[in-house]
Amino acid sequence: MSRLLVGGSADMAYDNNNIFAKILRGEAPAFKVFEDDHTLAFMDVMPQIAGHTLVIPKFAAVDLHELPVVSLAQTMATVQRVSGAVKQAFSAPGIMIAQLNGPAAGQTVFHLHFHIMPRYEGLEMGMHAREMADFAVLNEHAERIREQLAQSATG
Ligand code: AMP
Repeated sequence: MSRLLVGGSADMAYDNNNIFAKILRGEAPAFKVFEDDHTLAFMDVMPQIAGHTLVIPKFAAVDLHELPVVSLAQTMATVQRVSGAVKQAFSAPGIMIAQLNGPAAGQTVFHLHFHIMPRYEGLEMGMHAREMADFAVLNEHAERIREQLAQSATG
C-alpha cells in the first residue's frame, strides 16, 4: 500500500495493523462486494442498517485529509457505483454517505472509509459500531449487492 503525505495530515500516524489494512492484505476476513486496483468495498460488520457498506482506498490514509486527490476521485467513483447497487439491492428510497475524521468526530477505524447506508422514511438507524451482524445475513446482503453490480456492468 502506498503512502504519501499530501496537503493535510491526520493528528495520528497511520497504523499498518488497523483492521482495514489487515482486510486489504487478506489477513482479516470481509464480505467483499467490489474490488478494483484502487479501492475495496465490503459489508460493515456492525451495520447501522441492513445494507450498510464501506468503501476504502487501497492507500494508507488515516482520514480524508491524507488522501491524494487522484485517489479520492477513484474512491468516490467506487462510492457512487456501490451506492447505486446498494440502493437497488435494498429498495432504498434514500442513501446516506458518511465519513468521519478523527476520534472527536466518532472515527473508530483509522484507515479512511466511506459509509454507504440505505435510508427509509420513518426508519431510524441503529447505533454506530455496536452489534455484530449474523454472518449468514451479511453474506446474503453482500450477494444481493454483488448481483446488482454485475447487472449494472452488463446492462
Ligand atoms: P468509523 O467509526 O467511521 O471509523 O467506522 C468504522 C466502521 O467499521 C464501523 O461502522 C464498524 O462497524 C466497522 N468495522 C469495524 N471492524 C470491521 C470489520 N472487521 N469488518 C467490517 N467492518 C468493520
